[in-house]
Amino acid sequence: MPAFPVAAAEAVGDARLRGNLRHATHTIRDKRARAVAELPDWPELRAAGAAVKDRTLRHLDHYLERLERAVTAAGGHVHWAADAAEANRIVTALVLATGEREVVKVKSMVTQEIGLNAALAEAGIRADETDLAELIVQLGDDLPSHILVPAIHRNRGEIRDIFRDRMADRGRPAPEGLTDDPADLAEAARLHLRRKFLDAKVGVSGANFMVAETGTMVVVESEGNGRMCLTLPETLISVVGIEKVVPTWRDLEIFLQLLPRSSTAERMNPYTSMWTGTTDEDGPRAFHLVLLDNGRSDALADTVGRQALRCIRCSACLNVCPVYERAGGHAYGSAYPGPIGAILTPQLRGVTSELDASLPYASSLCGACYEVCPVAIDIPEVLVHLRERVVRGGEVTVRGTRTVIRPAGGHAAERAAMRAARWVFDHPGVLRAGQRLAARTRRLAPRRRLPGPGRAWTDTRDLPPVPAEPFRDWWRRSRGEGSGR
Ligand code: SF4
Repeated sequence: MPAFPVAAAEAVGDARLRGNLRHATHTIRDKRARAVAELPDWPELRAAGAAVKDRTLRHLDHYLERLERAVTAAGGHVHWAADAAEANRIVTALVLATGEREVVKVKSMVTQEIGLNAALAEAGIRADETDLAELIVQLGDDLPSHILVPAIHRNRGEIRDIFRDRMADRGRPAPEGLTDDPADLAEAARLHLRRKFLDAKVGVSGANFMVAETGTMVVVESEGNGRMCLTLPETLISVVGIEKVVPTWRDLEIFLQLLPRSSTAERMNPYTSMWTGTTDEDGPRAFHLVLLDNGRSDALADTVGRQALRCIRCSACLNVCPVYERAGGHAYGSAYPGPIGAILTPQLRGVTSELDASLPYASSLCGACYEVCPVAIDIPEVLVHLRERVVRGGEVTVRGTRTVIRPAGGHAAERAAMRAARWVFDHPGVLRAGQRLAARTRRLAPRRRLPGPGRAWTDTRDLPPVPAEPFRDWWRRSRGEGSGR
């Protein structure tokens, strides 16, 4: 995939897409702000969430081993996957061992991260998404573009067309005369999915949290489809990133307050499903937990970048990001779009590809993402840290292997301009003379665009007008001689 600016160009020029994104993100962000304002202790909750995550990450090996013991004691099986290929191999083998060729899925970012559906398809296994938005994406042969609302880039008319044209290919067709009324669309999805829930023998999920002390998995959701997938099949396979562990139920309580208000702006999410191993005559007969690294250990080793592993995938940062609002989610080239994608993806994959090296620049550094993040991830700090890594190059560790990345060269004209600017700022007399000359010849200065190599810079920026008088001359004139140099 090309670098972010190239990948984003089409979306930025698509007025309908920008309209869909703007409407959706502004609606969610306003609701979130109201839900958060209801809690007077929100700053304390936010600090507590960050502290719990940091402590857990510092002792991650300890908590993961504790989790493994608890899951095993409760009748589950734990598998460790170093990367996407290993996780896909494990899940595929587990499904094939059941003799089934179809699975139902709970919405899960991590299975998108590893490309599980495609890996299962290669082995002749069909994976049906059951979350409404994921279903829209799957039926439309599309990719998710938002963490919480994967089909945010689609409007109601487009969704009706996708249901009408594609539902029959994967099961029950859409009802005759389907309209674009949200209630009708939801009913069409419900009818389509009901048979799948009842027939499924294998369910695949992720988890929002894993409680180490009891080996309990937790999924929070709004539609109830997740609960159906978690309770009805005979075999349940949960693929979860190693950073999702929390030590105790007391810790979990903090996140069950932070997450719903930050993501769907609800005081409490409608469905909270928890499962611990297996239980006689209730729920799945077999439970497998696949613990996924896939670059997380590399991120953990970076003392600045590791804060990205605190993320609870609420999507609040996407909804306030001016870059995401215009570019949409596809240009980020991974399951994680928006500000969190711009810092998480380059850490999980390394900044070795053109796209991954461009992601830390997919931000205006306005800081809105940090303001709304319920676990206080300083996204701008990590962005700058990763930009430094891209510019300096040198040795990095990717999946445990030392790799050398070439320093980013940048544009030759930009480098020359920066060198010249540094020299001028080092020589105040030259700077003063240059400012006065620019003020006197300001009528000759270009109005809108720079000529030559500077032209591209003014493609997307307004050229500031040259002031009639340099600031320091104005200061001296208005405050008197001796007040400035
Ligand atoms: S970085 Fe923070 S705001 Fe963004 S999705 Fe993660 S937890 Fe939410």
